[in-house]
Amino acid sequence: MHIGIAGAGVLGRLLAYLLTQQGQQVSVFDPADGPTGRGAAGWTAAGMLTPTAELECADMGVFNQGVRSLDLWSQIIPALPGQVSFSREGSLLLAHRHDHGSAQRTVSLLADKAPHDYKPVSLPLTDLAQLEPDIHGPAMAWMLPHEGLLNSVETMIGLYEGATRAQWHWGQRIARVEPGILASDSQVWEFDHVFDVRGLGQRLPDAPDLGNERSCRNVRGVRGEIFWLHAPGVRLHRPVRLMHPRHRVYVVPRRGDIIVVGASEIESEDRSPVSLRSTVELLAAAHSMLPALSEARVVHTETNLRPALVDNLPRIEQEAGLTRINGLFRHGWLIAPAVVDEALAQAFNNGPLIRS
Ligand SMILES: Cc1cc2nc3c(=O)[nH]c(=O)nc-3n(C[C@H](O)[C@H](O)[C@H](O)COP(=O)(O)OP(=O)(O)OC[C@H]3O[C@@H](n4cnc5c(N)ncnc54)[C@H](O)[C@@H]3O)c2cc1C
Repeated sequence: MHIGIAGAGVLGRLLAYLLTQQGQQVSVFDPADGPTGRGAAGWTAAGMLTPTAELECADMGVFNQGVRSLDLWSQIIPALPGQVSFSREGSLLLAHRHDHGSAQRTVSLLADKAPHDYKPVSLPLTDLAQLEPDIHGPAMAWMLPHEGLLNSVETMIGLYEGATRAQWHWGQRIARVEPGILASDSQVWEFDHVFDVRGLGQRLPDAPDLGNERSCRNVRGVRGEIFWLHAPGVRLHRPVRLMHPRHRVYVVPRRGDIIVVGASEIESEDRSPVSLRSTVELLAAAHSMLPALSEARVVHTETNLRPALVDNLPRIEQEAGLTRINGLFRHGWLIAPAVVDEALAQAFNNGPLIRS
């Protein structure tokens, strides 16, 4: 079978990797100028795999896809070439004393929604000090067991390098997707089946108003800004979120003494550089829980758009010769393997390609 994939972000690379592993002939098209050319939201993401924490804004469908994907990532990532970091040490929720009320409301919401094994567990400060000795300031802490973290940049590269048998067409913007057909402005390619995973690129060209229609084509971008800090000597072992009435901030450890601080969530498709307000608010909040960051250096900032549908939930659309997937919003890394597995099973009418 010859399969065409429009888009080389999280979904496109994962599809290419899994399908080439199955021995399929695969061609991937993306406007980026090469395998590390930025554009996809997947590059910018912090890589948190946090199904319980996402229940604050997601439904049980996303939660279940997240839990399943954690198991799938634990099979996929060790098989990728190169160094790809993946851990499942749980994640922490923290709050300062004066934010007790709003933090308690969030934790109660998560505890109500999450199944027994995944409920937040209140953590005495002495235990917090043992787990994360550089955290000081917050008065309340909860552990979200089983949650994980991957390095999104390493995984983007690992999935590409694991799928070198695919034909990668860089610098190719796909303008039209139809069953069995991908077309740029000047060329048409024919396939047995095509996947449209262009994220925001799936929006219909003349932007007709689709109102509240739930469709992969009715996609909007939600701006997110993140910061990379070089912080040698600062100890952090897992994703940590600070609950705050006005904004959510998280810190995430990466190889090379990097700590990623994120992320704003703004209803805007503005891709311009990070704003002063986000810089001040996010970095001040990060510093208020990890004071050792004071001498860290801001080495990189990045802005990108999360592809979101009207209800902020993911969607698979299936017809003969064509599968569209979109709307992975703020949890694309969290749910991608389960979503892709479901889409492949629907498209080829067989059992799951990934065995968990
Ligand atoms: C700041 C930020 C932080 C995030 N943090 C997390 C996190 O911690 N955990 C988590 O699970 N998720 C996180 N996400 C969300 C995650 O990155 C997205 O859900 C995910 O990237 C969506 O995957 P995708 O493949 O649908 O889209 P993308 O990764 O955006 O990929 C779409 C691809 O399609 C290509 N494309 C566009 N137009 C065309 C065209 N015309 N022809 C061909 N190709 C085209 C693009 O170049 C791109 O490569 C975060 C996102 C942001 C912005």
